Amino acid sequence: MSDNPVRVLVWDEAPTHAPKSIYPNSLNGAIAEGLNTLSGGSIIATTANIDDPNQGITEEILAAIDVLLWWGHARHGEVTDETAAKVISAVHNGLGFIPLHSAHYSKTFKGVLNCSGDLMGGWREATPPDAEEITVCAPKHPIAQGVEDFVLPQEEMYGNPFGVPPALTVVFQSYFPLGGEYFPSFTTTVGEGIDPEFTSGPGGGVGQGQGKGRVFYFRPGHEAFPTYFDSNVQRILHNGVLWAARRI
Ligand code: ZN
Repeated sequence: MSDNPVRVLVWDEAPTHAPKSIYPNSLNGAIAEGLNTLSGGSIIATTANIDDPNQGITEEILAAIDVLLWWGHARHGEVTDETAAKVISAVHNGLGFIPLHSAHYSKTFKGVLNCSGDLMGGWREATPPDAEEITVCAPKHPIAQGVEDFVLPQEEMYGNPFGVPPALTVVFQSYFPLGGEYFPSFTTTVGEGIDPEFTSGPGGGVGQGQGKGRVFYFRPGHEAFPTYFDSNVQRILHNGVLWAARRI
């Protein structure tokens, strides 16, 4: 156990369309279990979902965590504007945020990044499913530590261009050989930072124009496939949590 563990909340929409045969404890349960097991106590991950009181999100809950992971798909419209606003404000003020896969159309993702989240290269649920080839684009990035190029044998395809702001770093690039599409997993920062007025120039230090809130979007995670049990995916989310919490 760590004296100062990273406190994490893994939120999902309690998706009824996610097969119980794959995710008996829902997606948030699988993700939290992976984080807790891999970290050996340096991360304490708990779960919440949309059917909890206050949709699982209050200002008190957000104030008690370092990083929020968000998985939504079919129930984005049920997330209230009030719930989304609490998340957006918290991330803009320094809460780490890891939106996963279909969270690209969530109110929280679109609000945090002030973007459309559109998949302008389309998406595809193929039969048999697409493979997803993941290339490490930034091997020195903390999120990529211990990860080499790997393949998820079954996934849903998302295609570029992606309706998001420019990335701070594209850490991984996904490639779908069935159709030749690409899609990024990337980091960015939001909110005011060291110097909110800074636009360019030597600056007073590294990252002068970066915002308070660290965001890591991770592409894979379709509910019909066991992606969150993959050891590379678990390592990436573990690293992503530590990065979003500014521990690495
Ligand atoms: Zn999906």
